[in-house]
Formats: sequence, structure tokens, C-alpha cells
Amino acid sequence: MIKFIILISTLFSSEAEEQIKEMSYSLTTLPMNKKGIKMIEDKISIRAKTIKPSSTLAINKKATELAASGEKIINLSVGEPDFDTPDFIKNSAIESIKEGFTKYTDSSGILQLRQAICNKFSRDNKLYYEPEQIVVSCGAKHSLFNVLLAICDTGDEIIIPTPYWVSYPEMVKIAGGIPVVCNCQDNFKIDISHLKSIITKKTKAIVLNSPSNPTGIVYSKEELEVIAEIACKNSIIVISDEVYEKLVYGNARHISIASLNDEIKQMTVVVNGVSKTYAMTGWRIGYLAAALPITKAVANIQSQTTSNPTSFAQKAALSAISSDQNEVEKMVREFEKRRDYIIENISPLVTYCRPEGAFYVFMKIGNMKSSELAQRLLEEKKIATVPGDDFGAEGFIRISFATKMENIIQAIDRINHFAEENK
Ligand code: PMP
Repeated sequence: MIKFIILISTLFSSEAEEQIKEMSYSLTTLPMNKKGIKMIEDKISIRAKTIKPSSTLAINKKATELAASGEKIINLSVGEPDFDTPDFIKNSAIESIKEGFTKYTDSSGILQLRQAICNKFSRDNKLYYEPEQIVVSCGAKHSLFNVLLAICDTGDEIIIPTPYWVSYPEMVKIAGGIPVVCNCQDNFKIDISHLKSIITKKTKAIVLNSPSNPTGIVYSKEELEVIAEIACKNSIIVISDEVYEKLVYGNARHISIASLNDEIKQMTVVVNGVSKTYAMTGWRIGYLAAALPITKAVANIQSQTTSNPTSFAQKAALSAISSDQNEVEKMVREFEKRRDYIIENISPLVTYCRPEGAFYVFMKIGNMKSSELAQRLLEEKKIATVPGDDFGAEGFIRISFATKMENIIQAIDRINHFAEENK
């Protein structure tokens, strides 16, 4: 068995180590012989083999396993609100199931929801769209993937500012494009001169994520204007991932780059969803708004692949988006308290990016590599974090404050001790 695992590991790039670990586990449970497995392995596409599994999910799984075996782990690796979906949202879904709203819908989403999304855009972002410019999908992740499929030809370059959300480069690769990483400055925002230097004839789009996962940075209007000007001048589409738009703290304000002027609106695909804003990660509803040729292409792709997102989840999203936003406000204030606690209490030995939005703190301690830091924090301090190298930032880890205050207090104490022990 051991020899065999070594053999199959040579078939993969080192990037796929996690997949190999997963596989070696399942091989012990499968009655197949080595030749049989190799034969099936050869059937897997190169495309699939080059895709890294989501490390966020892998770490979460490992921490859950340790917790199940009796270890008291504080899990700071999660990427979802710890609040429950509000009852009025759940009830809308339950009612719609009772009323028999359980069949296929328009594959781009029900008109009522697309209209409510248009109203949301005009209410929150001063952006005016028609329902035909909206496609509702199975989560913002699905919307992002759909738009990449809609715009990428083989070899097209998609600029991804670092540190980036782990899924962007992998999605670009699946879509046949080439992820081109753009450096950040010391404040974790795009290095504009580097951005200008990496634009080529093949550049199709840039992905913008404000507020950002993993750093929590929020771009100001002035910063967005500079990016918008470069995008328009070079005819580059902006894929603006705004899933954390409501989670902003202090004086930070979310501004959609599409709202700056008509020219950049035309070039921008705005992606958003209900997962983070309404604690609805499991419902899988996201959406995008764009110029008609893009929404038409996305609608076609979706109609031939997944069809509509779940009918009654759409009704729940409708009620979330169109009701009064008090519940969101409560959740945001709670996140803000936690963020403030962290920045007031974290040791000066920890280098971190002060988050103005989302629910993450991106940090480093000493000169350890990300994987060593994450592993040692898990083993020595029983804290699960996510290594930052997967976000394109070696040396960093990401912690999430989407967990209750008592966990945060304990975790910060343990992190401070760890920093002290390793200075
Ligand atoms: N974009 C970013 C930056 C995210 O962090 C996430 C979720 N972790 C998503 C998109 C996907 O959200 P959804 O649940 O709507 O697919």
C-alpha cells in the first residue's frame, strides 16, 4: 500500500498533495487492485488533476475530526457566519414548500427575485439594472464560475490581486484561462504599477474583492476610481465580488466599482449573494448583474448545466433581500465587537492586516511558513486556522471571527502566548 501511494503521488504535481492524502485513505477501503486504480486514474482529465481541493474545507474537516476525538479545538477556520438563518427567512421557504413551489423555475431565477435584486441594487448601491441583466445561481461561487466560463477562451489571462480568495485561480483554470497574480502593497491593496505592468493583449478580466477574504481590506472610492480607469482604458472586464458588502466596520463604507460611472458599469460584472449577509450559506443562492451580452451567455450556460437554483431557496432569498434589514444590522454589530476585541488585544508580536470588513484577520507570527504556523497552532494551541499560502501569501494564516466571543477571547490569549514563545 505504501509503495502504491508513492507511485500515484508521482502522477500528480506537488500541488495535489491533499488529494493524494484523501485518496490514500479511500484506497485502503476499496477492493480494487493497483492496476485497476491506475487505469481509472488515467481517465481523470488533466483539467481535474490540476485543481487544488479547497484547503479551507480540508482544515475545517481536520479540526472537526480532532474535536470529535475529544480534543478541545477552537475552530477559527470557518468561512460562514455562526448565526442561524433568521426565522422569517426559513418560514418563507417552508410556506413555499407547503404551497407546492417545488418544481423547475425559470433557469435564471424567478422574475420576482430578479426584480427584488434590481431593487436591492438601486437601494444599496445606486445601480440600476433590468431583471434580464440578473442571473440567480447556486451561490456566488457558482455565479463567479459561470461568468468565467462565459468570458474565458483558452489562454485568456485573468488578473487576480493577491492575497486572493482560494477559489479564484482554480476556477480560472477550470474555465481554460490563466490566472495572473497581481502583487499588493504593504496595506494589502493592489499595487497599481504592478497591475499596469501585467496587462497584456490576452488580459480579459480582473477579479476585485472588496471587502476582501482573506484580509478584510475595503477599497475607498478614490482607489476604485484608479482601478476603474485602468480597466476602461484597457477594455478589461471587472468581476467585482461583493459578497461581504454588508460586513463593514468603523468608518469603512462599501462602494461598488460599477456605481462609479456608466463606462465602468458596462465593464463590470457584480457578484453577490445571500450567504454572508443573511447567514444563509447552506441555501446556495448567489447572483450576478452585468451588461446583457454577459448575462445572456451566463444564462445559456446555466440553462444547459444546473438549470435553476432550488425553487424554495429562491423564495427564502426573496424574503431576505426584500424585508427590512434589522437582522443584518444586529449581526454586523456583533461582528464589529469581535473585530474590535481582536485588534485591541492581539499582541504587538503578531503582524496583521487591520480588517475593515468581512470576518477574517490575516496575520503572521515570526518567520514561519504558513503551513508550519497553522500546524503548530493546531497541535500546540488547539486552534484551527487556514494557511495563507493558499491565498497567495506565504507566511500568513487566516483566522475567522465568525465564532462566539468566548472562543475569540481564549484563542487570542493562546495566539499571544504562542507569539511570546516564538519571538
Ligand atoms: N466570494 C468570496 C470572497 C467568498 O469568501 C465566498 C465564500 N467563502 C464566496 C464568494 C462564495 O459564496 P457563496 O456561499 O455565495 O457561494
